[in-house]
This record gives sequence, C-alpha cells and structure tokens, in this order.
Amino acid sequence: MAPPFSLYGRLQPANRYGRLSAMFYDVICIGAGPTGLATAIEARRAGLRPLVIDRGCLCNSLYRYPVQMVFFTTAERMEIGGLPLVTAGTKPTRAEALKYYRRAAEHYELEVRLGEELLAVEGGDERFLVHTRTGRGERYSYRGRKLVLATGYYDQPNPLGVPGEELPHVSHYYTEAHPCWRREVVVIGGRNSAAETALDLFRGGARVTLLHRGPTLGPTVKYWLRPDLENRIRAGEIQALFNARVVRIEPEHVFVEVGGQQQRVRAEQVFAMTGYHPNFELLRSLGIALEPESLRPRCDPDTLETNVPGVFLAGVLVGGLHTAEIFIENGRFHGEKIVAALTGRVLQAAEPTRPPGE
Ligand SMILES: Cc1cc2nc3c(=O)[nH]c(=O)nc-3n(C[C@H](O)[C@H](O)[C@H](O)COP(=O)(O)OP(=O)(O)OC[C@H]3O[C@@H](n4cnc5c(N)ncnc54)[C@H](O)[C@@H]3O)c2cc1C
Repeated sequence: MAPPFSLYGRLQPANRYGRLSAMFYDVICIGAGPTGLATAIEARRAGLRPLVIDRGCLCNSLYRYPVQMVFFTTAERMEIGGLPLVTAGTKPTRAEALKYYRRAAEHYELEVRLGEELLAVEGGDERFLVHTRTGRGERYSYRGRKLVLATGYYDQPNPLGVPGEELPHVSHYYTEAHPCWRREVVVIGGRNSAAETALDLFRGGARVTLLHRGPTLGPTVKYWLRPDLENRIRAGEIQALFNARVVRIEPEHVFVEVGGQQQRVRAEQVFAMTGYHPNFELLRSLGIALEPESLRPRCDPDTLETNVPGVFLAGVLVGGLHTAEIFIENGRFHGEKIVAALTGRVLQAAEPTRPPGE
C-alpha cells in the first residue's frame, strides 16, 4: 500500500527511519497541546496505551503566547482529566496554564515524545507506522492502532502575501513589549490579537500604529479590550489607519493604500496579527477530505473519525478555516468522544457549546 503521507514525497524503505519503538500503542496522538493531552488522558483512563508526540515542548503553542498573557477563559473550563486548575487571580495566566498541563501529564504518567516532528505515516487502521524526526535529524518510528491529529493552528500564520513579509523585523508572533520600548511599531490586524498586541506595546512604551483593512475594529474584539483601544486611538496615543491595505514592507517602512492613496508608515518592528490556520497540507496528504469553502476536514461529529479509517481529529483543526469555533474550552472534550468511539462507551449528553469566555 502506498504511504498516505510523507513530507518528502515518496517514502524510502522503513529502515531509513532510524529507531523503531518496540512498543505497540493503542493511540498515537500528534500534538501535545491541551486537546492532545486531554485525548491521551482519556485513553489512559480507559485502560489504553497512548503516546503523545510533539515537534516542540509540551503545550508548544501556549508556550509561545505573549509572556504576560492571561487567558480569557476561566480556570475550570481549561481543566483536563478531572484535575483542578488553581489560579491566583480570576483567570489563568500563561505560566499557570503551562504548569497545570505539565502536572496533568505527570499525574497521568503520559508517555510524551517532545522535539519530534511528524515526518510520515505508513500503514492504515490498526497498523499505523508513524515516523518522526528530531531537530538534530534523529529519526524514530512508532507503531499504533489509531492515530489522532491534534496539531492546532498556531504553526501556520495567515500570510499577508505582500513583498517584504519575510524581512527579519516582521513577525506573526508577539511575545512581549520590552524590546520595542521607544520604537516605532506597526501592528497589522483588527481582531483580538491585534488589539491586545497594540495595547500591550503601547503600555510597554512603544510608538504604535495599528493598520486594519476593515472600516472599524472587528466585531469579535472582546468587550473589555474595545473601549480601551478606542480611547487610546481617540486620544492619539495609538495611531490607527482603517480601510488600510498593506501593499509592501521595507526595512523601515510599511506602505499602505488608504482610499486610493499610498502612505508610508515608519516601522522598526512589524507584528502581522492576521490569524492562523490548520496544516491543510498534512490533512490532505493523509487522504482526509476537506470541504471546499471552509476547508473543514470531513469527520464524524460523534466520533471525530475522519474519512480515513483509524485517523481521528481533535482540537481546533476540526473547524477548518473557522478557527474561532474551537478553543481549549470545547476542544478539551474531543478526547472523550474519540475514546468512547474506541471503547464502545456511551457518552453522557455533550456539554453545550457556549461562546468562549462567557
Ligand atoms: C493569544 C491566544 C490566546 C488564546 N486564549 C484562549 C483562551 O483564553 N481560552 C481558550 O479556550 N482558547 C484560547 N486560545 C485558543 C487556544 O489556545 C487554542 O484553541 C488551543 O491551544 C488549541 O489546542 P490544540 O491542542 O488543538 O492545539 P495547540 O495548543 O496549538 O497544540 C498543537 C500542538 O501540536 C504540535 N504540532 C503541530 N504540528 C506538529 C507536527 N507536524 N508534528 C508534531 N507536533 C506538531 C504543536 O507543536 C503544538 O504543541 C487562544 C489562542 C491564542 C493564539
């Protein structure tokens, strides 16, 4: 049978993949984010043997979020495996969440392989062979009955598609304001992450210009961020250009078109907060069908098994391009559905989906 997926096109014989684990896992979960961990924990609680593989550290996406960030979700809605998430304030900080997920993995004694990127998958249902590669080029292979993809979206930013986007002072990831103190910074975008980034940079002493292609801030901007940002813009503390289409970026300027006129905005640093999307290439190459417009992967909503037998999805990638549909809050329950499908267990009535943060 032809290998369903390889980053390198045609697969070489299996012995090219370095060390083969002697273990045979019930579930191999790609992605050690909150949903990947929750899935492995559910598998463990059901008496199965799961393995979790991540290209980065545990909860690599959360690790790369803004250093001082506070989640908008309350603690109990980020809990997995029935373990309480205790926080000092009303909402968990990034540091508290990271500590919590580390402790959850320890508590359930999860087998986790970190720093290993998915390279290829061979075989099929009940006999998957998953190949990985470390940053140092070492290769490993694991055998498993079922495969769960919980790879999130944070590794694939939505590109602006303009010249200069690849310059070193342009980033799709924001961590903290300190290096931008007294610097001219452009933030591109008009949704939550752009709003939060612009405000944090302003409070960290940066001179901020917000560029947004829409006529106003996006409708989903959180109710506590919107007045703060609008007041800063009104007071002239943050510059903002709406209906602004970025046309190119140069080392010291961003060029935008506003009302048919081209303008030049000084920028020593640019944060393009234009969102992220799941790895559709990975899904397609595994043979998973995607809906034409939404790029939603085809999967059974009750079991989360895709059209490829034995391959399940968990977390934000279930929504395709609709990345605002699934958060930690609801994605953390995907593992229960998957494990119920694997064990034939009947689930209690599903938790109703509520808008995040309510
Ligand atoms: C700034 C920000 C704030 C947010 N705040 C909240 C909030 O308050 N509440 C909330 O519920 N949600 C929030 N979210 C959304 C939430 O973080 C995501 O929905 C959640 O992380 C998704 O979990 P996941 O496990 O599906 O994916 P992720 O957490 O992204 O985990 C995916 C993992 O897969 C790994 N991976 C990817 N590709 C591969 C590969 N090829 N091989 C091996 N490993 C791979 C990655 O390294 C990563 O660790 C926020 C998002 C952002 C960006």
